[in-house]
Amino acid sequence: MSDIESLVCPVCDCDVLLGGYEKKGDELFCTECDSPLKYLLNKKTDEPYLKDDN
Ligand SMILES: [Zn+2]
Repeated sequence: MSDIESLVCPVCDCDVLLGGYEKKGDELFCTECDSPLKYLLNKKTDEPYLKDDN
């Protein structure tokens, strides 16, 4: 497993690179469309995902 990962932006579908230090509930901005996003974890699988925080 790599420390550096990326998640798909729910707004523009591009890859958003993560620093590897994000925690659940952190806000970040898409590097492509500048949308505010929230870093969340799937309750069942613990998989991280990004949610549109507009
Ligand atoms: Zn985006």
